This record gives sequence, structure tokens and C-alpha cells, in this order.
Amino acid sequence: MLKKLVLFDIDGTLLSVNKINRSVLVDALTEVYGTAGSAGTHNFCGKMDSVIFYEVLLSAGLGEGEITEKFERAKECYIERFRQSARASDVSLMLGIPELLQELSGCSEVMLALLTGNFEESGRHKLLLPEINHYFPFGAFADDAPSRNELPAVAVAKAYQLTGVQFFNHDIIIIGDTEHDIACARVVNAKSIAVATGNYSTEELKKHHPHVLYENLGRTDVVLGEILHSSIN
Ligand SMILES: [Mg+2]
Repeated sequence: MLKKLVLFDIDGTLLSVNKINRSVLVDALTEVYGTAGSAGTHNFCGKMDSVIFYEVLLSAGLGEGEITEKFERAKECYIERFRQSARASDVSLMLGIPELLQELSGCSEVMLALLTGNFEESGRHKLLLPEINHYFPFGAFADDAPSRNELPAVAVAKAYQLTGVQFFNHDIIIIGDTEHDIACARVVNAKSIAVATGNYSTEELKKHHPHVLYENLGRTDVVLGEILHSSIN
């Protein structure tokens, strides 16, 4: 019987994508808006793709109205360019991820899903390249809500639609590499597992008080135990 909803972030948590992601974004925004603003250097960590579009273009002096007007075209352009350009060699899985996903997918009490700032189509492509997309039947993406803090509720609703199981509190586990993953877990009283495989160290993540903090997800048994035995505390 399903007991745990385990929601994984993508970038910095499951995998990392090399500079192709940033260069594709710069090219797509330049094609549609005539400028990529601060996309070449902007901090993307833990942010929604949609929010990143606005932040980098506002910094170039574009108005919100103009950004919104061309947003769908820019999104399509970015996704299309990313799917055409990104290869398996551009993506690296984080330590322990294949083993952890293999184990979790074999647990009858675990429902695996995604909770990510990626648009669904580009996010799915990132997972297809290293062949881990099949582990995630659904997810909450940047397409689903304007802010990351709204995504846990979206994921819980999708899980209910799919399984008829309503997940609450610490039976929802959110695994991510930034303060934004920790913050969105708090919104639904989920258990947050922070991992320092992205751009933030354990010291930096600790300041945001995740329930659990790991250097990496390499110790499969330890992480699995934490997920399966999580309870309200
Ligand atoms: Mg991340």
C-alpha cells in the first residue's frame, strides 16, 4: 500500500547539466526578445524556469507586458533548442542516484514523482538522456504554477488523481539541493531532505533548517531508511 510520496528536484539533485542549458537559454531569449539580459551569468539555482525568464529580461530593461506577450514563444523556442542540442554526454547523474531510484521504484509503499522548476518538456528531456525518466510517472513543473511554493500542493493533487491516495505532512518527502526546495516543503509540512550536490554546501543549506541534510545521496540504505521511516516529529 502506498504510504510515501517522494518528490525529487532535478538540477543539482538527480543530475547536473553542463553549460549547454545556459547557452540554449541565451540563444532562445535572444531570438525572441533580441536580448538575453543577464541569462549568461544569472543565478538559476532552485528557481522556476518561468521566473528566470522574467528576472533576466527585466534586468535588461524589458517591461513585464512585453515579456508576457512573447513568453509562450520563448518557452517553446527554449524547449525546442534544448531538445535538439542536449546530448547524453551533457548530463551527469549525481552519486548514488541510479541505485536509489532502483531501490525506491521497488518499494510498494513509495510513489515517486518530480517537483522541479523545469518546464515539463525540457525537464523530461534531461531525465531521458541518462535513462531515468521512466521512474517518474508524474510531476509538478514550472508549467503548473507561478511559484515553487505552490508546486507541493500540485504534486499532492496529481498523486491523488492517479492513485486515490491523499498524502499528508511528513508522508510527503521533498528532496532538493537549494533553500527553495526546503522552503516549499514547509508549505505543506512535508519532510525536507536537502542534499549538497548542487551549488550549495551543507553549511549553507543548514541555515535553512531542512529536516535531513546529506553531502550526497550515495548511501542508499541510509537515505532509503530516512524516507521509509519518516514520520511527524
Ligand atoms: Mg535544484
